[in-house]
Amino acid sequence: MKPVDINWSELGFNYIKTDFRYVSHWKDGKWDEGKLVEDNKIAISESATALHYGQQCFEGLKAYRTKEGKIQLFRPDQNAKRMNSSCRRILMPEISEEQFIDACKQVVKANEAYVPPYGSGATFYLRPFLIGVGDNLGVKAAPEFKFVVFGVPVGPYFKGGMAPVNFMIAEYDRAAPYGTGAAKVGGNYAGSLLAHKIAKDRGFADAIYLDPQTHTKIEEVGAANFFGITADNEFITPKSESILPSITKYSLMHIAENYLSLKVKEEDVFVDKLDRFIEAGACGTAAVITPIGGIEYNEKLHVFHSETEVGPVTRKLYDILSGIQFGEVEGPEGWIVEVK
Ligand SMILES: *Cc1c(COP(=O)(O)O)cnc(C)c1O
Repeated sequence: MKPVDINWSELGFNYIKTDFRYVSHWKDGKWDEGKLVEDNKIAISESATALHYGQQCFEGLKAYRTKEGKIQLFRPDQNAKRMNSSCRRILMPEISEEQFIDACKQVVKANEAYVPPYGSGATFYLRPFLIGVGDNLGVKAAPEFKFVVFGVPVGPYFKGGMAPVNFMIAEYDRAAPYGTGAAKVGGNYAGSLLAHKIAKDRGFADAIYLDPQTHTKIEEVGAANFFGITADNEFITPKSESILPSITKYSLMHIAENYLSLKVKEEDVFVDKLDRFIEAGACGTAAVITPIGGIEYNEKLHVFHSETEVGPVTRKLYDILSGIQFGEVEGPEGWIVEVK
């Protein structure tokens, strides 16, 4: 494979066209066997449900290059399961875990030259998605579907080291109590763009969403989950039916309990009781862990550990998680899938 001309240390989180993507088509009750293609454009009917009614869902996971030069995926089975749960919520056909993981592996393998070297901090981000296609007019499920996986090399989230950032409480909701908050479906994100822009314009990293029913509890930090650390060595993360279940979050819960002997709890996190936390963070595949410096609520900035320094527990969680992902720390069984 030809080497590619990319300055790995300059990479951000931006789209770059890589050589191959995987496409599979669903028709008459089944998925075809799928194939790699070079064209990064998808021709679909102007009437596709994905374009009009938001019948689409997506996933995000990364391939990591180890010190030995191997390439590995982190818990891709969990992404397959979550994509299927998104599909069930918006009436799209599920895809087998085997086909999902095989598609990811094929895309990594075919674009191997774009997988950043070990030590650059950069990774190869995979974006699987599933969309309703075919001719349709009324509000109903599509007659045909496409499952696509493409991949893009992305930079380390923290250029020049992990540093805390501030967030503000959004005045908008991202999800409804019995809505689609727990599904990774496009509509949730269109609805969050305005709150994100307002937060950015005011100098914050992103908006924090409260529970849509009572507006008293923290649910999501932009497109990441929230966790807080108490002085009693507890790892606490919100529990709610409208939070997107972050695979990073569940992995950190396991690490907190089994590697750091913290007490782990999923419970309500009231926004007027943030004093109980000595550290806080946001977690997700793209950001890994973003330390939260402070949260603006009722015109006051509540600062956790520090606005400039990363707390010691957050640091340990980050080191163990990224250690597992890059193959330096032994992870629990089944978390790492090698791309051969
Ligand atoms: C994808 C996503 C996350 C993070 O999930 P991971 O599986 O950890 O990447 C958190 N919140 C929202 C709203 C998301 O879309």
